[in-house]
Amino acid sequence: MADKLNAVKGMNDILPPDSARWEWLEEKVRALMARYAYRMIRTPIVEPTALFVRGTGETTDIVEKEMYSFEDRLNGEQLTLRPENTPGVVRAAIEHNLTYDGGKRLYYMGPMFRHERPQRGRYRQFYQLGAEVLGFGGPEVDAELMVLAWQLLADLGLRNVRVEINSLGIPPERQAHRAALVKYFEQHAGLLDEDGKRRLHSNPLRILDTKNPALQQMVQEAPQLLSFLGEASMARFETVRSLLAACGVPTSVNPRLVRGLDYYSHTVFEFITEELGAQGTLCGGGRYDGLFEVLGGKPTPAVGWGMGLERVLELVKEQGTAIEPPAPDAYAVIPDAAALPQALALLQQLRAAGISVQMHAGSSEGMGSMKSQFKKADASGARFALIFGADELAAGEVTLKALRDGSGAQERQPLADPLAWARKLQSAA
Ligand code: ATP
Ligand code: MG
Repeated sequence: MADKLNAVKGMNDILPPDSARWEWLEEKVRALMARYAYRMIRTPIVEPTALFVRGTGETTDIVEKEMYSFEDRLNGEQLTLRPENTPGVVRAAIEHNLTYDGGKRLYYMGPMFRHERPQRGRYRQFYQLGAEVLGFGGPEVDAELMVLAWQLLADLGLRNVRVEINSLGIPPERQAHRAALVKYFEQHAGLLDEDGKRRLHSNPLRILDTKNPALQQMVQEAPQLLSFLGEASMARFETVRSLLAACGVPTSVNPRLVRGLDYYSHTVFEFITEELGAQGTLCGGGRYDGLFEVLGGKPTPAVGWGMGLERVLELVKEQGTAIEPPAPDAYAVIPDAAALPQALALLQQLRAAGISVQMHAGSSEGMGSMKSQFKKADASGARFALIFGADELAAGEVTLKALRDGSGAQERQPLADPLAWARKLQSAA
């Protein structure tokens, strides 16, 4: 036998019946987005590496160590598997002048790639849902986006999710804070770890983000961005929070929540659960008013979030929400291959009418015994068997047998007029 090949480490197969959970989630997402009038955008999975170096930021973990980058062998282009979708969305918006006639509300759902150490809730290929609002600068869209994420989690039946929020103000406010921060960290330089020393001048804000326990106390006492915000920025922050409160979304201020890049401004937030261990951030986002310009577009305000769907589904499982695996309405039992033409023609009509039917499939030796066919019919979860026996077919009929109500009741129905009786296959519980 040839050598077996396995999936790449940290990249998962999603198999039935588990894939039903993904379909359930995706349907909830589509329905929700329709209610909020957000429209889908799909951008390529591969983009020029420069898009992320500029759009995600050279000093971020993603660009420093997590990207799958490669050279196109045929033309030498530098390419990267997208680690996130915001830069791709903004690139597309600039390329197609998407906001020429006003703002746009967009969402996407798809795989992202980051070379991280695989563990629960952290994979090398993972799925993100994201929502981005382009071209509107007011606090009401920050609130709308956060309500949208909150409502999605509610629609999925999730509980105990906390919302942390902060404001990064505007660039001059951040620069004043940055200067104070660098001064403070220089005074405590002896305590900094490798990453911290490197970031002290390249991106000191990121030090606030550190997960190193040894740095926690020092970081707790560092100068806080909020105290550098002017009146207008503070008022905006309070407006976002009070709009959220009006919608029943409680927020707590986390002054250490930062995105260490210059194109961010004002609102930043995370949705967090304590029920998934260390990988408890379900959703993160914020306002990135400067990104269009960084990517060569006209100044355009924008705000968005990204949500990790593996983590969301893990929490759904953790909190015990049962998701019924799909079952067909009926299972077609076909005792003899001679019945196949009539059986297949009828099944085609039933399916065209919206009824789901699983056809018994035999082997090269034939259709198999009735006993084995009924065993498969039971295992399929179907409520009815449709039996295409020789007797029935000779009379122009098919037998319906109830499989799940305990009655085992059987009745014959005409092949010629399936729509007269076929609804029964769906409506009976
Ligand atoms: P973390 O601090 O957990 O690394 P991040 O700041 O890198 O998160 P974002 O880039 O903001 O995450 O991505 C948004 C969301 O995508 C995260 O909140 C998380 O739910 C999910 N996510 C990020 N990286 C991964 C991954 N490697 N595997 C699974 N989900 C992920
Ligand atoms: Mg990360």
